[in-house]
Order: sequence, then structure tokens, then C-alpha cells
Amino acid sequence: MVSFLKKIFGSNKTDAQHLAKLQFYNTLSGTLETFIPLSDRKVKMYNCGPTVYAQQHIGNMRPYVFADVLRRTLEEWDYSVKQVINITDVGHLTSDSDTGEDKMEAGARKLGRTAQEIAHEYTEKFFTDLDLLGIDRSKILFPRATEYIGEQIALVKALEEKGYAYKTSDGIYFDTERFPGYGKLGHIDISGQKDGARVEENKEKKNPHDFALWKLSKPKEKRQQEWSSPWGKGFPGWHIECTAMIFKLLGRQIDIHTGGIDHIPVHHNNEIAQAESITGKQYVRYWMHNEYISIEGKKIAKSTGNTVYLYQIADRGLSPRALRYLYLTAHYRSPMNFTWEAVEGANAALKRLTRLFFEEFSKEKGDALPDERFMRDFYTAIADDLDTPRALARVWELVKDDSISAAAKYAALIAADRILGLGLEERKNIKLLNPFAKEKEQEKIVEIPTDVKTLLDERNTARSASDFEKADALRKQILEKGYEVKDTPEGSTLLAKQ
Ligand code: AMP
Ligand code: ZN
Repeated sequence: MVSFLKKIFGSNKTDAQHLAKLQFYNTLSGTLETFIPLSDRKVKMYNCGPTVYAQQHIGNMRPYVFADVLRRTLEEWDYSVKQVINITDVGHLTSDSDTGEDKMEAGARKLGRTAQEIAHEYTEKFFTDLDLLGIDRSKILFPRATEYIGEQIALVKALEEKGYAYKTSDGIYFDTERFPGYGKLGHIDISGQKDGARVEENKEKKNPHDFALWKLSKPKEKRQQEWSSPWGKGFPGWHIECTAMIFKLLGRQIDIHTGGIDHIPVHHNNEIAQAESITGKQYVRYWMHNEYISIEGKKIAKSTGNTVYLYQIADRGLSPRALRYLYLTAHYRSPMNFTWEAVEGANAALKRLTRLFFEEFSKEKGDALPDERFMRDFYTAIADDLDTPRALARVWELVKDDSISAAAKYAALIAADRILGLGLEERKNIKLLNPFAKEKEQEKIVEIPTDVKTLLDERNTARSASDFEKADALRKQILEKGYEVKDTPEGSTLLAKQ
């Protein structure tokens, strides 16, 4: 790839800095910055992941498609990317200011199940959605917060030893006054909040912005998930979880950290405070945040039922990739409004592009190179803070341009799709099956080979024995054979992969 970028941008150096310069908007500086990684060609990236107490809706999935476009772009620029998306299965409270109930405990109680049962179920559903949106899970690490309790306790201890933490009757808190740059991400104004501008629910905190590193279980509380610690039985705070997993899996300094804009004021400022207090050096070079999605003009709220899930899009006979296409039509930093009309439009556009790709352009494919003028514009748009709407618009100009040969268009679309991830090449033999359709309907269309059935039986056995690691590995093997496992309350079913 780089050779083609080089050809277009006229450089004989392999360093991507001499090609189309990647520019990203960094929330930390509030400006567009040229991307320069910490180490030569390796990029460490962390994306704040889902809290698995409920199914992820189409708003929740936007951050991962944005992170995927970012990853694909970095790879196209010849960087190797180590990517982590955490699974939050403990410690995320119903209020970001460390009050309220743990979302996992509340979710489990509501469903009459264990926290780990629902964690596994919604993690699996999340994985299915990632697969259907064209995100290659085999390239990503998915650590679960409950698997890193020891690491989290160690960080809290380190902060305590350095004098950054204090104890209250309900936990260990980080003293934000000890961290001079507190609130620097997004320039959060903390001044007005000291004199009681914000109603403070926890009177023992020294400062309204102080946040829990470790919460103690209440004497009468029947928590499902709690661990012994030097401070007593309890559970980790949500913010320390991300820092512990980053330190363990990526190192003490990383290149890129992403999340939705809601994470800027509290979660990410807290991560910075605790991490930099421990290491004394910059935690993250580039902070990138996606804007919110609303549905039919209204805020997405599970409580009012104003939600849409990917399976509902498939239920209407639309391709899951139509949602990905729809996401790409807006810049990741622009708010986006989901409507059924818009996703139907995206589905029609994707269908048309796929048809042109296979029926009009593929006939002459041969060894043609991608159209150079198009590639230059396309890469320039992507390098400009992932301007996918501009890149997509340029794709349609290419398609309609009669002066360009079909073969050059075909090659150009293949190159562009490495970043867009619409799965053009994979779509050749797709019968539009609903990947979420009921078991019975699926049986009519899918003949399952015996080796896949055996793998599924093994996976069911592993799941019954709560060996979720093995179950995950088997799921991957089944996926490699072209089948998606869907877990339902009645058991697991197989779907032919879209
Ligand atoms: P959660 O599972 O609530 O922690 O959310 C998972 C991710 O989705 C986080 O990065 C949130 O910032 C993001 N998010 C939540 N709601 C929306 C929305 N309506 N639009 C875009 N991103 C969202
Ligand atoms: Zn996080």
C-alpha cells in the first residue's frame, strides 16, 4: 500500500510523514494535529468499551466503527496497530460522580440473573454486532475489567503511597487538588463548582471532582461482585479500570485514546489525573472523541424506549453494513440523527455501489492500478481527520466519471474499501439473509457442515461449564468457517455469515 501512497504523493521515503500527512483533531489541544506516533511504526490505541449490562444500541456502536476507520487508516499508512477495547463488567455506576448503583448489579437484579451471566450475554451480542459492522475482532484485545482486579488494586495502592488518595466511609478517593492540571481535557471549568454550585451528594469528599478509586461494599448490600482489598471488601472505580488495563496491555504511555464525547468531562479527565500522578509523564498523546447520535431527533434513552438496535435494522430486510455506511456519511465529530429513511437510503446506496462494483466494473479488472486522481483526493480526505463524508462523496464522483476506465474504478474501490470497510469484495455471494432471523427460518436456508456442528457442540459444553475463554476461541473457529454463533435464551444457533 505505502508504495501506492508514495507513488501518488511523490516521495521515495517509506516514512508515512512524507506521504499525505495524517491530521487528527486532538481534544487535548483543541486543534488539528499532525499524527506522530510515540514509536516509529507502532501505534497503541485504546477505545473505551461497552458496559455490558444491556444490549448496545446504534448510538453505542458509533464509537467502534469510528475506531475501526481510524485503525484501518493507520494500517493503510503502514503503521501496525495494537488495539484494545475493554469490556466493563463492574464498577460503572449509574451516576458518573460515583453515586448510585453499579449498572451491572442493577441490570442483573432486574433480569433475575447473575452479573457474569448478563455480562457474557451482552458481550456476545456486542461481538456479533462488531462482526456484522465489518470490524475484525481477531485484531483487537477485549479485556474484561473483572479479570484485572489485582492490577487495579495495585494502582490504587501506588496512588495512596504517593499521597494522592484518601479514605472516606464508603471508599478510597483521588484528591484532585493534588493534580494541578485537573480538567485540562476539554478545558473543563472546575472553578465554579468548589463553592457549592453543584449539589454534592457525598459530603465526605474534599472536592466535588474527587472520584472513587475503590468503593467499599455497604454492610447490608448483597453485592454479587466484590473483592478483598487492603481497604476492605469492595470493587474498583470505573476510571481506574481503563488505566489498569492500558498500563498492563499497552504500556504507561499510549498514542490514541478514544470514546464518546460524554467521557471527556469526567471519565477521561479522571483517567489522566490518576495515570499521570503515577507515572509523571503524559498518559495519552491524542485524545479523540465521537459525537452523539440521536434517533428521529431525540436523545437515545433506554428508559423511554427510544432505542434502535442493529438486529432491528436487519429485521427490516436491510444489510447491517447499511448502518456502517450511514455512520460514514457524517463526520465522526458531527452529531448525527438516525432516521429509518436515512438507513434505508444508505442501504440503497450500498446496494447500488455493490452492483456497479460487480456488474459494471469487475469485467475488465486485470492488473489495472486504481485511478490516481481519485486516490489522491480520497487519501487527502481521510488524512484530514477522517473526513469520511468527503471520501464517500468522492467515491460517487469516481463511479459516475465516464472518462475513467472500469478497471481503474474497480481497483480504486478495492483500495478505498480497505478504509471504508463496506465489505464490497465480500458481498459477491451474499443472499440477503437476516443474520438475526429466528432459528427456524434459518434452518431452511442454511445447511450446516458436520465439522461446524461438532465445534458448536464443544462450545455449548464449554459454556455450560462457564469456560468462556474456550467458548470464545471456539466461536472464532466457527466464524472462520463462515458461520456466526448467536446465543439465545433457548441455546446457540448458527447463522451463515453475511
Ligand atoms: P456505555 O456502554 O454506556 O459505556 O457506552 C459505550 C460507548 O458509546 C461510549 O463510548 C459512549 O460514549 C458511547 N455512546 C453512548 N451513547 C451514544 C450515542 N447516543 N451516540 C454516540 N455514542 C454514544
Ligand atoms: Zn474508559
